[in-house]
Amino acid sequence: MAIRIVREEDDEILRKKSREVEVIDDKIKELIADMIETMHKKEGVGLAAVQVGVLKKVFVVDLYEEGIEPLVFINPYLIKEKGEHQVEEGCLSFPNKFGKIMRPKEITVKYLDIDGNENELKCKGLLAQAISHEIDHLERKSLHRSSNSGNIGSDYRRGQKESRRKDKKEKIMEDMRYEHTLHGNP
Ligand SMILES: [Zn+2]
Repeated sequence: MAIRIVREEDDEILRKKSREVEVIDDKIKELIADMIETMHKKEGVGLAAVQVGVLKKVFVVDLYEEGIEPLVFINPYLIKEKGEHQVEEGCLSFPNKFGKIMRPKEITVKYLDIDGNENELKCKGLLAQAISHEIDHLERKSLHRSSNSGNIGSDYRRGQKESRRKDKKEKIMEDMRYEHTLHGNP
């Protein structure tokens, strides 16, 4: 296992779309192991392969809840989104920057696990937020810096209006669930 370099800010690769994984071979498994190690080292709650320079539809998530192993998602796609709320979000590719974005309250995601089994996961709260954020990375809807606010925004459909909204007062996250701010970097 190895720590990989996390691509940041203006790196062009963050705007490229990731491709489906065709075979879960040793190379992909090594990538996943490295991604988990890198995410932990950076104290992030999620990391997409594109962030370490690999354009594959793979991401990992860890909310650091006791007894729960990091989750691995291969070729994920959302099949359902329910509700919407504004959340504060950060990203390992945009260190120490946070922005407000609209995220679904609840999602259902289909994906392959590391053994190639097809899974369906319904979740809400921070997990739903983290998964939505990582899927955005794979679909090249990467968070980018909003020119208006200096905060990160998103060109994601729902995020668009939010990133343009100037919010001078940076509110400290009220919701304790966001104690572990997405992608760490408190
Ligand atoms: Zn991110």
